[in-house]
Amino acid sequence: MPRVYNFSAGPSMLPESVLQKAAAEVMDYNGSGQSVMEMSHRSPVYDEIIKSAQSLLREVMGIPDNYQVLFLQGGASSQFAAVAMNLMTKSRKADYVLSGQFSTKAFQEGSRYGDCKAVASSKEENFSRIPDLDESEFRPDADYFHICLNNTIYGTAWHTLPNTGNVPLVADISSCILSRPIDVSKFGLLYAGAQKNVAPAGLTIVIVREDLIGEPQEGTPTMFNYGVMAKNDSMYNTPPCWSIYICKLVLEWIKNEIGGLPAMEARNVKKAQVLYDFLDNSKLFKPCAEKESRSIMNVTFVTGDKELDAKFVKEATAAGFVNLKGHRSVGGMRASIYNAMPPEGIDKLVAFMTEFEKQNG
Ligand SMILES: *Cc1c(COP(=O)(O)O)cnc(C)c1O
Repeated sequence: MPRVYNFSAGPSMLPESVLQKAAAEVMDYNGSGQSVMEMSHRSPVYDEIIKSAQSLLREVMGIPDNYQVLFLQGGASSQFAAVAMNLMTKSRKADYVLSGQFSTKAFQEGSRYGDCKAVASSKEENFSRIPDLDESEFRPDADYFHICLNNTIYGTAWHTLPNTGNVPLVADISSCILSRPIDVSKFGLLYAGAQKNVAPAGLTIVIVREDLIGEPQEGTPTMFNYGVMAKNDSMYNTPPCWSIYICKLVLEWIKNEIGGLPAMEARNVKKAQVLYDFLDNSKLFKPCAEKESRSIMNVTFVTGDKELDAKFVKEATAAGFVNLKGHRSVGGMRASIYNAMPPEGIDKLVAFMTEFEKQNG
């Protein structure tokens, strides 16, 4: 069977050259006579893998020296609690913007560990855009201000950051990490599950400004303690070895084959533009997210007719465009077009949609 174009929101496609490299090295990694899946995480050969994954991430993202890069487990969902336990330690207050399901979950989880306030929400509009902000709602003594930079389910993204003054900005970047350059210095902490744009599931990346790592709340599990993880170079226990190895290969792909994050962004913007242009001109398909909040990673759209949506998803699947069904809270379709989706995948999808519209419009 030929490879399909996989529009899954996550886990999602990986670059073909990465899969081929991993396959070529699966029996014998770099003359070690073993697979990365099998080797000791304390061995010199693995040490080189985790260290170069870390330094490549620093280089590709331009992470300043006063930030720690942590390779953790438990997914972005674990960070909903870990961020609160580690950072909500002074005023024990934190502000959250509710722009979708994941930011709402982060807010609910954070609320278990302190005084969390939802300072804005677009729930009334079914999260079809980033909410308007009223800065007078922001609390200047909050320990942090939390946003979700790209809203995977709704297909929206922040295009200008909120002005939080001295309050550290914390962002969930699970579905947009490595999709474009991010000025890390504008954030106190960034976190992401790897399975959308970086690696297979299992790795969770935390990038945290060093001065924010302190004594966490009492009762914080050791595995959630940023200080312990930083002090042990993310090797307090067995790290997700294989996922970190693929992360390294993906970073090499971005650096050497794509040409870094500015080139990655140009490629992603162009891909998204092709799809949005089609949707804006279609008489059958309608985009869901409001124009000024559109994501370049997740594109949501509907026909307005549930049966026709289902027919489209079914026929698309048969034609090799898989996982286009939208999240149940939005309905319709969602095309997740992460870094590894090649531009021709979008071109072919648009050609398929054009033909579907002709037959069903
Ligand atoms: C997928 C996703 C999550 C959940 O990630 P897990 O690693 O499965 O916990 C959280 N936030 C965002 C923005 C996501 O896209």
